[in-house]
Amino acid sequence: KTSEAVAPIHFASASSEADRIWNISLQAKIDDALRTGEIYVVYQPQIDIRSGALFGAEALVRWEDPERGSISPSYFIEQCEQAGRMEALTRKVMRDALSTLAASPLAETGFQLSVNVSATLLADYRVAEILEEALAGVSLDPTQITLEITETARIVDYVKAGLVMERLRQTGVKLSVDDFGVGAASLETLHALPFDEVKIDRSFVAKTPDDRKARKIVESVTMLGKSLGMTVIAEGVEGVEGADVVERLKEAGCDIAQGYYFAKPAKFSRLMEFEAPAKRL
Ligand code: C2E
Ligand code: CA
Ligand code: CA
Ligand code: CA
Repeated sequence: KTSEAVAPIHFASASSEADRIWNISLQAKIDDALRTGEIYVVYQPQIDIRSGALFGAEALVRWEDPERGSISPSYFIEQCEQAGRMEALTRKVMRDALSTLAASPLAETGFQLSVNVSATLLADYRVAEILEEALAGVSLDPTQITLEITETARIVDYVKAGLVMERLRQTGVKLSVDDFGVGAASLETLHALPFDEVKIDRSFVAKTPDDRKARKIVESVTMLGKSLGMTVIAEGVEGVEGADVVERLKEAGCDIAQGYYFAKPAKFSRLMEFEAPAKRL
């Protein structure tokens, strides 16, 4: 269950009777999969561009169904949103990721663990309770945790979202705006909400080798993030040009890089193959 999904199955358009039945019982299936371990977490390294050492890793959820095979996260996360299962999913990922780190020698370093949190959960304080419970269950420095806020387009109430984010930050965790530049991860998001990190969407980063415009956008967003005092991370560094992309990110002043060029998401122990992160301050 540790290998990266090669060809995720999509079946959003309940085309057959089997799919229809599957969708009806989805809520129960999700609950089941969360319990049995069919839903589990993989980790993708994030590299400190200046030192070349491991900076941290992003926790990414996987669902391996015995009959269906690998189910695409983008698909089933949307299903979780619709089935009211985002909290259960987030609780599971948060608990697994935090306890995995706590049991690892990396917990003694400056290693930074990122967990994705859908912005739809910023509508009330329950997400803070999920985080606080997960932190209470382990012995970890909360400043080692970053929450990547995804789907910021879905924030309806910025005031409320800001309050929830402040409570999350009170635990010590950092907050990152995911997929910056696409959808509505916008300047308003940066202005109105208390983010510590900006994550430039991979659609820009991946285009930088042969697209001057994409390069300029990545450079400008990096400058913007740095001038706001934020950590800047670029996702989607991939392909044969990966080394050049990293070099350009470095020149632009970007702090961290992530992508297939370094590694695909895999089991946590694979992170030990990278140069160890700096000692904790
Ligand atoms: P994301 O947060 O933007 O995560 C990055 C996605 O890009 C991951 O896809 C990752 O496997 C993929 N990726 C990483 N490096 C490269 C690269 O170099 N090239 C290309 N082409 N792709 C790369 P994945 O794992 O399929 O996740 C898709 C999305 O599902 C994530 O996008 C995130 O929005 C969501 N997601 C995943 N896990 C969770 C979770 O635990 N909770 C929530 N709320 N959302 C999650
Ligand atoms: Ca993310
Ligand atoms: Ca992202
Ligand atoms: Ca993305």
